[in-house]
Amino acid sequence: MSFDTILRNGCIAGREHEPVDIAVRDGRIAAITPRSNQATQDAACDIALDGKLVIPGFVETHIHLDKSCISDRCSCRTGTLQEAIESVAAAKLAFTEQDIYARGRRTLEKAIVQGTTGMRAHVEVDPRIGLKGFRAVSQLKRDFAWAVDIEICVFPQEGLLNDPGCDELLVQACDDGADLIGGCPYTDNDPHGQIARIFELAKRYDLDIDLHLDFDLDPSWMHLDEVCRQTAKYGWGGRVAIGHVTKLSALDHAALEKIGVKLANAGIAVTVLPATDLFLMGRGAEHSVPRGVAPAHRLLAQGVTCSLATNNVLNPFTPFGDCSLLRMANLYANIAQLGRPDELQACMDMVTLLPAKLMNLGDYGIAVGNPADIVVLDCADRVSAVTELAQPLLAMKRGRISFSRPTATLYWPGATPSLVKDDFGAGPFADARSLARSLP
Ligand SMILES: [Zn+2]
Repeated sequence: MSFDTILRNGCIAGREHEPVDIAVRDGRIAAITPRSNQATQDAACDIALDGKLVIPGFVETHIHLDKSCISDRCSCRTGTLQEAIESVAAAKLAFTEQDIYARGRRTLEKAIVQGTTGMRAHVEVDPRIGLKGFRAVSQLKRDFAWAVDIEICVFPQEGLLNDPGCDELLVQACDDGADLIGGCPYTDNDPHGQIARIFELAKRYDLDIDLHLDFDLDPSWMHLDEVCRQTAKYGWGGRVAIGHVTKLSALDHAALEKIGVKLANAGIAVTVLPATDLFLMGRGAEHSVPRGVAPAHRLLAQGVTCSLATNNVLNPFTPFGDCSLLRMANLYANIAQLGRPDELQACMDMVTLLPAKLMNLGDYGIAVGNPADIVVLDCADRVSAVTELAQPLLAMKRGRISFSRPTATLYWPGATPSLVKDDFGAGPFADARSLARSLP
């Protein structure tokens, strides 16, 4: 029996102690067998992984492609959330569809080489930007389907009920094929009214919901109960996610535990965005600055589906960004003070398995019959992936290699680097057979 590709001697995340060969045919995983370094079965492409970690790719539940890469267009002084919203709103007035496409493309290309294979892009819709962002990201979704599955969540960043014309545009985007709908109740003059309207639209178009729920450190009020209530009313459990929820970082354990029970029972997932939340929260503090990052690992332990995501890249909300979800897992572990193996594995799960669950991706995972979405990391297990920020070496999307990179070469004294032009970019390493030879 012949295959298109065999990845030999890889360690699947979660089953690291049983190295396997993964055979791919017609874009799907056709067989998983105990490891063999010999070519006992035939394949057009044969890649030796030498015990490296294999994952089904990172899954990004929350990223803004439409407003990425605009740091150079905004001048911020205070670093507050309000300033970020206002300066992006101003910059947005000059966005064109081509401009959004070009910046989104740059961001997507970074995400792909960081091993991301699935993504939920949150796209702003309002009377200023109209459907330009939606159309540009829809084009990116089509053009990058060879490397990453993108779903588009349309949402009103600057309010809905206080913004005449916004509702009609959201409806138009839903008519035109938006994959899900989001909201941002904290910028609306009627937050509960906005939440109710979003659920109404979700029901009408049969869409999942992903809300930017709250973004401050005052736990004395929150919209979370209203989201639980609407989720139960519509029977939308398992189809609702809430992002940021930075208020949860300001709760003591007992109060947080009560909320964890509510979220788990309601079937509401949580996405934490460590880079943005760290950057924007606690700006009023002169010392002992609060982290402002919701404790995802505690909610996870209570049965809440939690993911860690990138959110913004190179803009006033987050002037950083390499689109590495592994870096988000590492950052989260660092700020949440997690160091035990089970805790670090949970951090890895929050950028792989759990976001796939949040997005209801039914065929995610290294299993026979699933699409051959496979990413190889330069490490042997999930713990070292997180602690050492292991480099992604290769990604495959539906059986086709979408990128590869060589491992670094050290030149000891006496060794002569033979650097030729082809060592960079589309040279010998772009070819999978060469990559197979180059893996140490
Ligand atoms: Zn966001």
